Amino acid sequence: MKIVFASGKGGTGKTTIAVNLAYYLAESGKKVQYLDCDVEEPNGHLFLKPDYDNKTAVKVMVPSVDLDKCNFCGRCSAECRFNAIVTIKDKVLVFQELCHGCALCVRICPEKAISEEQREIGFIEEGSTVNGISFVQGVLNVGEPMAVPVITAVKKNFKEDYIRIIDAPPGTSCPVVKTITDADFVVFVTEPTPFGLHDLKIAMSVAINMSKLFGVVINRDGEYPPLKEYLDQEDIPVLMSVPEDRDIAEAYSRGELLLISLPGYRDHFKILADNIMKLTGKSL
Ligand code: SF4
Ligand code: SF4
Repeated sequence: MKIVFASGKGGTGKTTIAVNLAYYLAESGKKVQYLDCDVEEPNGHLFLKPDYDNKTAVKVMVPSVDLDKCNFCGRCSAECRFNAIVTIKDKVLVFQELCHGCALCVRICPEKAISEEQREIGFIEEGSTVNGISFVQGVLNVGEPMAVPVITAVKKNFKEDYIRIIDAPPGTSCPVVKTITDADFVVFVTEPTPFGLHDLKIAMSVAINMSKLFGVVINRDGEYPPLKEYLDQEDIPVLMSVPEDRDIAEAYSRGELLLISLPGYRDHFKILADNIMKLTGKSL
């Protein structure tokens, strides 16, 4: 079972809900794996506090041009869809941050002047938490634009017989699509505001286009009727509502799990787990 936590925008509480569901399931005796694919700013570790036992670099292939062999024909530049290689008179410039590592330029160079070299763009850390959650996070190096290879590397660590709780990046870009692509269920976490509803609609359209099962968690629930009216009208299930509660915000700011600081919320996460089971027809 792969459950992805997503949101239309940052700051909705997506990670708070994801880490607490992971904790709830682990405390209930389930085998749980938490995978942080929010690789530009992974913060599940702040709450689950894993001990790491492995760290692996994530590398991508980029072209390297041998100017002694190059005839400056410009074919590589003309064919690269990402404008990552440019031929200027007697120079060939490679913009490594734009390169998608497709190796097309390597294959089409008539002089066999292009080879591939590795470039490190981030890393993966693996470990486990005190209550036995298997933990994996991807970290994209600062300034690197391409999150997808790091997300791919995180997902290579999927453990088959575990419930996998996956924290997706916010928004609707390629990294989100990559994270959602093999999900059994997507939980969209939103806040009851006009911006929250606007971005939720866009994010849910990604799941609809990918034919994914999904539902919504309303975080910091308060007075904003249009959100519930919209979800009602579109027949979109509300999986759980968490009220606006200063104690939750304070626990968050201390880096504490909600279910440890405020165990009264345990029933909320039982409802969330039950709703996911009901909608997927799979047990957790
Ligand atoms: S395709 Fe090969 S030979 Fe032509 S400009 Fe590029 S590197 Fe040089
Ligand atoms: S490997 Fe692909 S993306 Fe990178 S420079 Fe060559 S053609 Fe462009």
